[in-house]
Amino acid sequence: MRLNTRVHDRDVAGMRYVYPVVSRRARGVSVGVNLNPNKACNWRCIYCQVPGLTRGAGPEIDLERLRRELTDMFGALVQGDYMERHVPQESRRINDVAFSGDGESTTSKQFAEAVALVREVLESFELLGTIRVVLITNGSMIDRPEVQAGLRAMSSMNGEVWFKLDSATAQGRRVLNDTGLGTERVLDNLLLASKLCRTRIQTIALALDGRPPSPEEQAAYVALLNEARSQGAAIEDVLLYGLERTSHQPEAPRLAKLSVEQLETFADAIRSSGLTVTVHP
Ligand code: SF4
Repeated sequence: MRLNTRVHDRDVAGMRYVYPVVSRRARGVSVGVNLNPNKACNWRCIYCQVPGLTRGAGPEIDLERLRRELTDMFGALVQGDYMERHVPQESRRINDVAFSGDGESTTSKQFAEAVALVREVLESFELLGTIRVVLITNGSMIDRPEVQAGLRAMSSMNGEVWFKLDSATAQGRRVLNDTGLGTERVLDNLLLASKLCRTRIQTIALALDGRPPSPEEQAAYVALLNEARSQGAAIEDVLLYGLERTSHQPEAPRLAKLSVEQLETFADAIRSSGLTVTVHP
């Protein structure tokens, strides 16, 4: 779930919850918020790149420390010389704040409080509304009232939910995400998310034991998105990713990247229902 490689540097040494990511592709800096420093997630995706991932929920967050770290990070980016020292000229802008940690952010009981803190800090730097606030999520906890409160707050601050959907079948999610979450709940959570906040779908498509997602899997995926939209889900677009980085799960040797052609064929099937799809091979 983590965005990208951490920037190791003494500016960020000692930070528990906040980390900067310089993205060449997005030409900007993303401020990552990790509410799972204990590396605990309620899912276990076979491509998960978190080393030492454990099953569980985010720990109690030290909110004062989170506030301090966010303030220090934005201070270094906005008022300090962090950009000059570490960021290529063409990327010297802040793209977003992203809840993207070593586990599922919404398993934290303090998720909504953390969103409120981000709001406060952005306001204090006069950045509220000018940069996006993104939640990268597996979507499994959206039926919890406190998560919904967080999404409502995000919606009022240029927020986006990136809702993970790797498979539309129970069997597929069992294999890829090691979760028993039923399809009805996935659909309900997607509906809820999209009603509360701008929602994008993020999907990883890969080959397992040399086999790409079957035609039946791909058809079920398109059908689920169509069903969600027919029930009123406003889906912004679909971000279709290939396997980018090394998995730290035991299944790692069984995984392989799909070719660009395979990803594009899947993307075209999704596009045929009118959705915008961006492929990240
Ligand atoms: S949802 Fe999957 S990819 Fe994200 S942290 Fe959990 S196990 Fe890893």
